Amino acid sequence: MAFQSIRGMRDLLPAEAKRLRAVEERVRAVLDVFGYEEIRLPLLESTDVFSRGVGESTDIVEKEMYTLEDRDGGSIALRPEGTASCVRACLQHGLLYNQQQRLWYAGPMFRYERPQKGRYRQFDQIGVEAFGMPGPDVDAELLHLCHVAFEALGVGSSLRLEINTLGSARDRAAYKAALVAFLEPHRDALDEDSRRRLDRNPLRILDSKHPATKALLADAPMISAHLDNESRAHFEGLKSLLSELGIDFVVNPRLVRGLDYYTHTVFEWVTDALGAQGAVCAGGRYDGLIEMLGGKPTPGAGFAIGVDRLAMLVDAVDATVANAKLDGYCVVLEERFTASAMQLAAELRRAGRRVRVHMGGGKIKSQMKRADASGAQFALILGEDEVTSKQVTLKWLRADLPQETLPREQLVARLARAGS
Ligand code: ATP
Ligand code: MG
Repeated sequence: MAFQSIRGMRDLLPAEAKRLRAVEERVRAVLDVFGYEEIRLPLLESTDVFSRGVGESTDIVEKEMYTLEDRDGGSIALRPEGTASCVRACLQHGLLYNQQQRLWYAGPMFRYERPQKGRYRQFDQIGVEAFGMPGPDVDAELLHLCHVAFEALGVGSSLRLEINTLGSARDRAAYKAALVAFLEPHRDALDEDSRRRLDRNPLRILDSKHPATKALLADAPMISAHLDNESRAHFEGLKSLLSELGIDFVVNPRLVRGLDYYTHTVFEWVTDALGAQGAVCAGGRYDGLIEMLGGKPTPGAGFAIGVDRLAMLVDAVDATVANAKLDGYCVVLEERFTASAMQLAAELRRAGRRVRVHMGGGKIKSQMKRADASGAQFALILGEDEVTSKQVTLKWLRADLPQETLPREQLVARLARAGS
């Protein structure tokens, strides 16, 4: 029996890994120019960090978390998301004391879900968090950052920004009561998940994909009727900043985040191009979270990009984004020219060229076949004559140009002139 990877945990073969990296690098570049700083966080945390920081009554903690017993008996969990860890780290290192922070992290997250296209048990996120800033200005900055990154990746027009407000903690409590009062008489008509949520986490019901529940919700009360002036002003402030920045959005009054500590702004970037798994990025303001994890009340806002889904979208829109192809392939006619070939490759790599050196010997014909299959633009041939005369033979593999033999020190300039 051959070994197989665990269900929902994929191997990313080179073409896919390349795509993911291209996407990640572009987003990182945008984070950089916005002045956000990287923080690296452990993959494992005490289970409590997530049960407190994500919430006991969320899908993540209730059914999706990989928890295990540590060798000393403590309960630890593979991180299902990054926000709770990031807050834990900031509190542990005193980063939130009278300070503002703009942070990001990237890496794998783990959730025990039903694997399908765009939904895996190990997946990658880029998470961004901003602490210490209470106003709609930073909410707008976070969305601006997303907008710039998505435009840079060429997927801006394939994504729709949906926003909503959940108001202050008090607004939300009032709304929750109104929603429960509306749904309670229809309890029997709700799907099973929603019935359970009615008692534990009623706002999550708004998120239901169940047709009967959705039909019921059509007449449900709206959060907008329960907002105080301050909450309204926050939301209006965000909307006008977005408009002035030229960022299109739609207000979706049914958009909620399942977590209790969310306040005011919530948002999602969604696409119709990926089927059911349409949410590529999600986030919002979570002014209650830091306190929940033992800190002083501190404003916070952030989002997480699903990198796997974003890479799928990028590929669907423009398959050439991750086209980091090999430039050159060094053919080694005799074993004794190996060091020369490696040195030649090193010279080209210093000039930023991607070069692979042939290994394992063989006749020139079979080496040229390998060169062709590698996708390289040109082959470099080193034989007896070339090595003694400090020359190299350049053979174009994709263009109809004559083969030429030239001094080695002219090669870099020759390639630059060829514009390849
Ligand atoms: P969904 O409703 O799709 O389950 P979510 O609300 O659980 O998403 P978040 O916790 O907000 O997702 O995570 C942010 C982003 O991470 C999502 O918008 C999505 O792009 C991505 N994501 C979440 N879960 C997965 C997964 N299992 N596989 C791949 N990407 C995921
Ligand atoms: Mg989920």
